[in-house]
Amino acid sequence: MSQHDQDIEDVIIVGSGPAGYTAALYTSRADLKPLVIEGFLWGGLLQQTTEVENYPGFRDGIMGPALMSELRAQSERFGTRFITDEATRVELARDGGLHRVWVGGRELRARSVILAMGAEPRKLGVPGEQELAARGVSYCATCDAAFFRDKPTLIVGGGDSAMEEAIFLSKFASEVKLVHRRDEFRASQIMIDRARGIENIEFLTPYLVDRFEEDGGGSLSRAVLRSPNGSGDGSGDLLDLEVVGAFIAVGHQPNSALVEGQVETDEDGYVLTEGKSTRTNREGVFAAGDLVDHTYRQAVTAAGTGCQAALDAERYLRDAPTSIEGHWVSHDEVDAATAGAGAEAAA
Ligand code: NDP
Repeated sequence: MSQHDQDIEDVIIVGSGPAGYTAALYTSRADLKPLVIEGFLWGGLLQQTTEVENYPGFRDGIMGPALMSELRAQSERFGTRFITDEATRVELARDGGLHRVWVGGRELRARSVILAMGAEPRKLGVPGEQELAARGVSYCATCDAAFFRDKPTLIVGGGDSAMEEAIFLSKFASEVKLVHRRDEFRASQIMIDRARGIENIEFLTPYLVDRFEEDGGGSLSRAVLRSPNGSGDGSGDLLDLEVVGAFIAVGHQPNSALVEGQVETDEDGYVLTEGKSTRTNREGVFAAGDLVDHTYRQAVTAAGTGCQAALDAERYLRDAPTSIEGHWVSHDEVDAATAGAGAEAAA
């Protein structure tokens, strides 16, 4: 193998949630020596979770960060390598060429890429939200609840995340107003019942957040809610709440910006895959986890699709035409393939 071949990875995995690490586990056990670009805050959203009770194999539950450490260590045991930094740019080749991934100024090349960048919390987009982020407005109760001990707070959302965050927050805050835009909840009944059973959680529906206001010192002091059924002229429709902590739990959006315009996505930005496979519309590029899935979004389903992506990548590499020497060694070919992808990405 030439020096040039040694620079070419078989598999680069972008992302380090359950999908990314499971893909790493399977590809490392297939002796493909995967390289995971795992980000500074490796481990994905489960790093921000406390108890995980629904990941199979842990009868008594496991803490989210502990689960991610285990998944990471398990893939490392079989030869996975990690870059604990962000992927900053991707150029996906077409027709089986080499794909290029940058981490800052460092360029990496690979025969196959598994995209597993996950999804991130959705914003409300109301006045004061951005300005007061980290000054009272937060997207992670598990991370920030302790800052609001004995303080009035609110949670926005009607899904399982909102219930889970409310339950966690109620252990710290003096009161938790759970604000949801409808009277019906998307959350599972068991989570709703648990939240309803907690004395300092109060459900407020149907209400939308109109705006967040500060106290004059730059910190959140008030949330103004608006009834969606109101008269429309504003009179009597508004509800003022004194809160110093506001937690937004209204779902997630996929982290697909890195590959925007290069792989097919749906209208919400979730990466599209072919049939039941993890194949994207680019040869040698696979996608898994919450980046693809807006229906199930569970750690175990993400891990399952990470496994599928690894098997799809393995088969792709096995069946890829011509030998490594014949197909990948030429500088000209590499340049031609990546230049084609670059031109397309720029188009
Ligand atoms: P969901 O998409 O399930 O719920 C989002 C909630 O936010 C919905 O109630 C939605 O309202 C509301 N919402 C969305 N946009 C806005 C907006 N702009 N303004 C006001 N409200 C808004 O997301 P979750 O993060 O709660 O859950 C995602 C997945 O993860 C689910 O499958 C869930 O079951 C799972 N999960 C499981 C947990 C567990 O089992 N322990 C814990 C956490 C999550 P509406 O209903 O009106 O659309």
